[in-house]
Amino acid sequence: MTNSGEEKRKRVKRPRGKVRLIEGKCIACGGRCQAECPVDAITLNDKGEPIISLEKCIGCRKCVKVCPVSAIEHYYTDEELRIIEELKKQGLWKEEQIEEKEERKTEGLDEYRGVWVFVEQQDGCAATVSWELLGVGAKLATDLGVELSAFILGDSIEHLAYEAFAYGAQKVYLIEDPILKDYRTEPYLKGTVDLIRKYKPEIVLMGATGLGRDLAGAVATELETGLTADCTGLTIDKERGLLEQTRPAFGGNIMATILTQNHRPQMASVRPHVMPMPPRNPDAKGEIIREKLNMREEDIRVKVIEIIREEQAEKIDIAGAEVLVSGGRGMQAAENFKILEELAGILGGTVSASRAAVDAGWMPYERQVGQTGKTVRPKIYIACGISGAIQHLVGMQDSDVIIAINRDRDAPIFEVAHYGIVGDLFQIVPILTRKLREIAAKKCAA
Ligand SMILES: Cc1cc2nc3c(=O)[nH]c(=O)nc-3n(C[C@H](O)[C@H](O)[C@H](O)COP(=O)(O)OP(=O)(O)OC[C@H]3O[C@@H](n4cnc5c(N)ncnc54)[C@H](O)[C@@H]3O)c2cc1C
Ligand code: SF4
Ligand code: SF4
Repeated sequence: MTNSGEEKRKRVKRPRGKVRLIEGKCIACGGRCQAECPVDAITLNDKGEPIISLEKCIGCRKCVKVCPVSAIEHYYTDEELRIIEELKKQGLWKEEQIEEKEERKTEGLDEYRGVWVFVEQQDGCAATVSWELLGVGAKLATDLGVELSAFILGDSIEHLAYEAFAYGAQKVYLIEDPILKDYRTEPYLKGTVDLIRKYKPEIVLMGATGLGRDLAGAVATELETGLTADCTGLTIDKERGLLEQTRPAFGGNIMATILTQNHRPQMASVRPHVMPMPPRNPDAKGEIIREKLNMREEDIRVKVIEIIREEQAEKIDIAGAEVLVSGGRGMQAAENFKILEELAGILGGTVSASRAAVDAGWMPYERQVGQTGKTVRPKIYIACGISGAIQHLVGMQDSDVIIAINRDRDAPIFEVAHYGIVGDLFQIVPILTRKLREIAAKKCAA
């Protein structure tokens, strides 16, 4: 074993410092610092302020950078300052070396520009979530002062490029190839990754559909970037030009805002009906940029032998319904949903349910509204015997008009409701149905 001075110097652990909270500055933003810490050194107290474990802290400064009000500062302990002095004497310490290393990671990010939306299609028909994403994408692009583009992969799908212009895209990146006729991960992944590597968009949005989830995860993995799935809000942090990706976290108990700071593109997926449809301008024009797939059928391991479509007749699409009458645990039994069906019937609507009602077996899962069910955006949402847990609210709070019927006047559902009726739903729902029938009958007679 050698014991030279050189060896000793190499073995000195380079100080990385610690962090501490500056008193009175934290605004309890929801724990961005906690979410960013790679070693779980931060917990939040009951006021939502961070408690930093100095034992766990490795001085990476991620919490310092992410704090919106600079409430956390980096410092060196006395022991570390002593070591730094020693290293300086030996010419082995440069003040800014840790920051430089961190900054190196972000080099080249400025080359990425523009907001891209993936237009998902099957048999030449686009998923409506793609147009919803162009709506929110336009707002992001305006805030950043960049172009909004769509990218489309498929076979004989040029008509969708014109539709994308109508919904706000300024450019469309198009790859048409018979190989892309039916969705398979490999060729769609290659086409998408090639486009992103070549044109470098800073933001890529995809629908959180079955296809979109599969593709988005594969693309983010290949590009080694972050992906925030199932976002309910997308905005721009104007100071830093970063995409703020908001989604429910910790079982829906908090809304977390996630940033992709050191990698590009910033990728997010959004479920259908979470964002509103933008207006359609059929006269809008744009530029089509065509690229090739450069792949042979022999290179693809998965072959599509047959496509078996789900029986459409039995399928209830609560996500597309304009009127929803929704029942919760307050319905007490499956047979009681009959009164909701009668009310929905007179309004031309559909019956949906909370998870409690689905878990009780009163309604099938396809009718569930909420975080683990469907996101809905009807013109009218009538919540009957639903308390309004956050996991339910995230699935329906963007409905145009929310009417809540609950016998508990403090139920959280009333906080999002436009109209609230405090009382027993078994009395109120039949009265509503009767009144609406009377109105309908009068209209027929007139
Ligand atoms: C990870 C996770 C994901 C989840 N995902 C979802 C989801 O997708 N969707 C979802 O809905 N939930 C979801 N939940 C469950 C959620 O937390 C709630 O438990 C659930 O929404 C409660 O359903 P509820 O409002 O029907 O029942 P309760 O909370 O029990 O509320 C019943 C309400 O009915 C009222 N009531 C009772 N009788 C009457 C009457 N006769 N007249 C009028 N009012 C009456 C009561 O006052 C009460 O407010 C999730 C939970 C977790 C942890
Ligand atoms: S400096 Fe890094 S390790 Fe320390 S608390 Fe902040 S994020 Fe966690
Ligand atoms: S990021 Fe800043 S404002 Fe937010 S909780 Fe942490 S210290 Fe407070």
